Amino acid sequence: MKIMFLGAPGAGKGTQAEIASEKFGIPAISTGAIIREAIKTGTVMGLAAKEYTEKGALVPDKVVIGIIKERLEKDDCKDGFILDGFPRTVAQAEALDEMGIELDVVVSIEVPDEKIVTRMSGRRVCDTCGASYHIVYKPSKDGKTCDNDGTVLTMRKDDSPEVVLSRLDIYHEQTEPLKDFYLAKGKLKLVEGQEEVVDTTRLTLEALGGK
Ligand code: AMP
Repeated sequence: MKIMFLGAPGAGKGTQAEIASEKFGIPAISTGAIIREAIKTGTVMGLAAKEYTEKGALVPDKVVIGIIKERLEKDDCKDGFILDGFPRTVAQAEALDEMGIELDVVVSIEVPDEKIVTRMSGRRVCDTCGASYHIVYKPSKDGKTCDNDGTVLTMRKDDSPEVVLSRLDIYHEQTEPLKDFYLAKGKLKLVEGQEEVVDTTRLTLEALGGK
């Protein structure tokens, strides 16, 4: 099964992608996580992406398409995968088509802009393993350190309120048109993001039902 999660930054795509990954036994692939890892290790791609990502802009299509192509060729993708944060532009979606990849279902998690900024201020991440938490909706066990490796949790640089507002503008301008793109292909399902993660998961699994 090939699934894609669409939605504004902070809508909960990553969380739902991880849950669906466990349930269906297929990898969740986050281009944002791959890019953050490349920035951390200082690869050529990481250095090229850093200036865009830190100010909340999209990394150029050519770079991201290269990243996803390489990732989807890996063996663990042969029975399916879950895309989180790719495609983010119509050009990226067209590149996926050109690779001969047809998604089975695209789930768009809908959360109003007003709620996004508040939600993002509570997001915390682990710089060691990349796990993502939320101080209210998905706290780590002790609320301060990562459950996986004990690293002290921090805020992502691009989750500051000013950067979030610009990421939301970019989402509406460049990513939201993908809803029409996948609606026309008969692949789009809308899920209203809920206060509690479990409730969004229930609606997401319903949307994926029968797949
Ligand atoms: P995310 O973790 O999905 O919020 O992504 C974090 C950042 O990585 C984004 O703000 C972009 O700078 C970059 N990024 C991730 N995925 C893409 C993509 N598909 N196209 C362009 N930039 C991306």
